[in-house]
Amino acid sequence: MKLSERLTEAIAGGICQIGQVAILPQAGGAGHVLRHIDDGDTAADLLENHHGPAAARDISTWTEDGRYRFTKAEQSLKRGWQLHLADDAELLQALDLFYPAAVGLWLAQQDGRLEVEHLRDKLNRQTGMYRFARNLSDTGAQALVREVCGPANCCVKKILWQIDADTPLEDSEASRYDGIPGDRDRTRALPLLCREACNHFVAEARKASKAESDAKAEKVES
Ligand code: SF4
Repeated sequence: MKLSERLTEAIAGGICQIGQVAILPQAGGAGHVLRHIDDGDTAADLLENHHGPAAARDISTWTEDGRYRFTKAEQSLKRGWQLHLADDAELLQALDLFYPAAVGLWLAQQDGRLEVEHLRDKLNRQTGMYRFARNLSDTGAQALVREVCGPANCCVKKILWQIDADTPLEDSEASRYDGIPGDRDRTRALPLLCREACNHFVAEARKASKAESDAKAEKVES
């Protein structure tokens, strides 16, 4: 079965939210309409109407106040729009623009075939200037999860990875987060999943590793 058909099946089964995007029920199965989750009950004539999946790219690129969204998982999707999609294929295309690969990752997880890459494996693969990230201590890595991930830092993905296969993440708001923004029915939302540390995290790991190394050098000198 195609991804778009499986998505439609999930929607028929009750899924009506992905990240900050609400999927509104349509009478007679005539296409799909998406809105920001906080605009679910807003009168249609108060919203800006868009048609076709490509509009999802424009809607999701900038925040309400015109700032570039550094990652699509950032909890800053602007409000005030309504997106009309003709069929299941357009729905999947639009959701892939709002949240790249989120539907595919969720379906892979449902099938038990989602592969997760733990942080050490990710950092050990880094080359060039990012290879310094490999030296980050476990303590530093645990702290970085609290400083970079989770809704307090604007990322609304559920973290699936650990430091390594034997070292789980310490308990924190970031490590506990379930990938579902808002306070709606969790059983009707598709969570955003983080299967490996993102480039932003790796860049921060490099900086933190360097800070650890500088602190050690200072200690030796004093
Ligand atoms: S590593 Fe994952 S959870 Fe953390 S900021 Fe990046 S995308 Fe979000």
